[in-house]
Amino acid sequence: MNIILIGPPGAGKGTQAKFLEEKRGMCQLSTGDMLRAAIKNQDPLGMEAKSLMDAGKLVPDDLVVRMIEARISGPECGNGFILDGFPRTVPQAEALDAMLARHGKHLHAVIELVVDDAALVERVSGRYTCAKCGAGYHDKFKPTAKAGVCDVCGGTEFTRRADDNAETMKTRLKAFYDQTAPILPYYKAKGLLRQVDGMSAMTEVTAGIEAVLG
Ligand code: ADP
Ligand code: ADP
Ligand code: ZN
Repeated sequence: MNIILIGPPGAGKGTQAKFLEEKRGMCQLSTGDMLRAAIKNQDPLGMEAKSLMDAGKLVPDDLVVRMIEARISGPECGNGFILDGFPRTVPQAEALDAMLARHGKHLHAVIELVVDDAALVERVSGRYTCAKCGAGYHDKFKPTAKAGVCDVCGGTEFTRRADDNAETMKTRLKAFYDQTAPILPYYKAKGLLRQVDGMSAMTEVTAGIEAVLG
């Protein structure tokens, strides 16, 4: 099954993509994660993206389209893919359609995680990640079992994203409503759009997604 998880920053896309990866063996393709890895590795592509990301603005369409196309038919995506944070503009959605046709693939569902703006700011403000294994946490909603130690790998170093602050969130939310929300009618017209309440607890959101996927 090939799906898109769509929703504003902090909606829970990455959290839910990880569940689906574990449960169904699908691959998570997160353009945000790929861009942060490119910055960490000091790739030229990452250098191009960094200042835009720090400001909460979208990076150019062709950059993310190329990153997705390089992965979509990879062996790790044999059980289907979860697009997380892509597409984010109508031109990206159109490029995705053309790409899927070239690869003989199609989308099964576009799942929108619906979350209030106020909750989003609280979610990104408390978000942190294990530096070693990438497991995601939250100060209030999903702290590590033992303070300062990753539940998954025992790692003791954690990172917080430079753009996860209330100020940059304003720009990121605006980018979502101005540039990404117009994709929703695009997929609705294709009969692919499903809404899931993203305000409930993580396990309940997972159940909502499972109900859509069947
Ligand atoms: P996105 O990938 O959409 O930006 P994340 O999955 O990284 O969002 O979630 C943002 C933050 O909110 C993380 O710290 C995560 O642990 C937390 N979170 C995710 N889903 C929920 C939920 N249903 N309720 C409370 N907190 C959540
Ligand atoms: P979140 O999980 O909070 O929604 P992401 O990790 O998906 O955030 O994205 C972080 C930043 O990376 C974005 O603010 C943007 O600058 C850039 N980015 C990620 N994916 C895309 C995309 N598909 N198109 C344009 N910019 C992107
Ligand atoms: Zn870890």
